[in-house]
Amino acid sequence: MMTGQEYRQSILELKPKAFMFGREITDLSANGFTGANLNGVAETYDMAQDKDLAPLFVTKSTLSGREISRYTHINTSAEDLMARIKVARRVCQRTGVCLGRCGADSLNALWATTYELDQKHGTRYHERFKAFLRRVQDEDLVTTLALTDPKGDRSLRPSQQPDKDMYVRIVERRPDGIVVRGAKAMIAGATAAHEILVHPGTGLGPEEADYAVAFAVPNGTPGLYHVVDRQSADERKNTDSWDKGNVRYGSLEALIVFEDVFVPNERVFMAGETEFAGEVVNRFALLHRVVLAGCLAGCADVLAGATAIVAEANGLGKQMRDKLAEMTYYGEALYAGALGACSQPAATASGAVFPDPLLANVSKWHVTWMPHEIQKAAEEVVGGSLACMPSQADLESEAVGPVVRKYLQGAAGVPVETRMRAIRLVENMVAGPGRLGSLCMHGAGSPAAAKIMVRALSGLENKKALAKHLAGLS
Ligand SMILES: Cc1cc2nc3c(=O)[nH]c(=O)nc-3n(C[C@H](O)[C@H](O)[C@H](O)COP(=O)(O)OP(=O)(O)OC[C@H]3O[C@@H](n4cnc5c(N)ncnc54)[C@H](O)[C@@H]3O)c2cc1C
Repeated sequence: MMTGQEYRQSILELKPKAFMFGREITDLSANGFTGANLNGVAETYDMAQDKDLAPLFVTKSTLSGREISRYTHINTSAEDLMARIKVARRVCQRTGVCLGRCGADSLNALWATTYELDQKHGTRYHERFKAFLRRVQDEDLVTTLALTDPKGDRSLRPSQQPDKDMYVRIVERRPDGIVVRGAKAMIAGATAAHEILVHPGTGLGPEEADYAVAFAVPNGTPGLYHVVDRQSADERKNTDSWDKGNVRYGSLEALIVFEDVFVPNERVFMAGETEFAGEVVNRFALLHRVVLAGCLAGCADVLAGATAIVAEANGLGKQMRDKLAEMTYYGEALYAGALGACSQPAATASGAVFPDPLLANVSKWHVTWMPHEIQKAAEEVVGGSLACMPSQADLESEAVGPVVRKYLQGAAGVPVETRMRAIRLVENMVAGPGRLGSLCMHGAGSPAAAKIMVRALSGLENKKALAKHLAGLS
């Protein structure tokens, strides 16, 4: 398995093509956005090398029996699913950001779906996928998942869009492969992945065969490039200042453009079988929704820690104990919901298991509002300095430094810089590029998607029967 440094080098060798602010990024590792994200993913490799964490981060391949990264594993038990959540939490505790190794969840969805697809159609997608997965495991690669299409007019289906490129589609079928066109939006960790995994983002009708496409392409493939998304307070990311809050790592999302990209047959895992589009999305969502809860629990730990440092620096450590406990309560509730969904796995014919569908969607529902409560508590504890505080440059300047140092002091014995740095980290996670809110609302699908699933799986007839029995109704 690779070290963080070997991973970083391997990505740079792929030469992913990326633009930001209208210009091509010439050095991914030096750029404040792509570099901070690369560092975060590299940290996940170094964590796997740590002998205390290895039992969680490293597991045995069901394909080769070799030791592989948990991020490349096909889950076959409740323990596997729970380990995936624990890894997500540990990584976010260490980095404080969403890094985007979400392809892990897509590998599982494609494993199960290609298996069933072959059973029904006599195709060879699963064998191809197995060979691809074997390489991902053996070479310890990062996959990211590109599911979200730009979608244009949301009231129209893919085939009804005036501009047909609003959903990724096949534009040419050749004997040796397919040519795809379109884009995928908001893809986390896009420039830090070795392989981009693409599959549909919605169920499709029989007339939408060209949109029923799943494949993998390496970063750096001709015709594929990224337009990196802006984030709030992002101008700080290209500076050395601790005003950016998280001085080590950063999240990154990008629009990935596919300009007539050729995908050879061995990398195509679905090409026209529309009835399986919804299934692959559904399986990915089941797993990813609970993983996201694990990520947010880890970020919530960091935010609670930063908030506690500020409370103590303000001389209010004791007074804020209840608010800090509230942050812990929501963080642990997120974690418990995710673990609960994993404790009751649903089996598939392929051998892969997925979290319980109802509990997984309840977990995602938690994710749409609990992180906001955590943020709210942090804002209350920290006070107005969260939104209104001079900069590091002011603190260090000759002109106003002494004044800033005097008026931003808090409790005796706490250096002003400690207080300011902790406030900046809270700002980053509440209102800046690492803010929990932006992650939680739409990551792993919109709230409506989870609510529709909870409604469908509510089992109200069973619940009515329980009530009728006790009320003496027939
Ligand atoms: C931080 C972050 C990271 C992400 N990372 C990834 C990633 O790695 N890979 C990936 O594939 N995607 C990723 N996403 C995208 C995510 O999956 C989408 O944001 C999500 O699926 C919602 O899609 P949308 O943002 O296009 O919202 P829209 O589809 O535009 O929806 C906006 C709102 O309108 C509602 N709505 C939409 N259509 C209708 C309709 N017809 N009728 C009624 N209401 C409707 C939705 O429920 C929602 O509330 C990420 C998103 C975020 C915020």
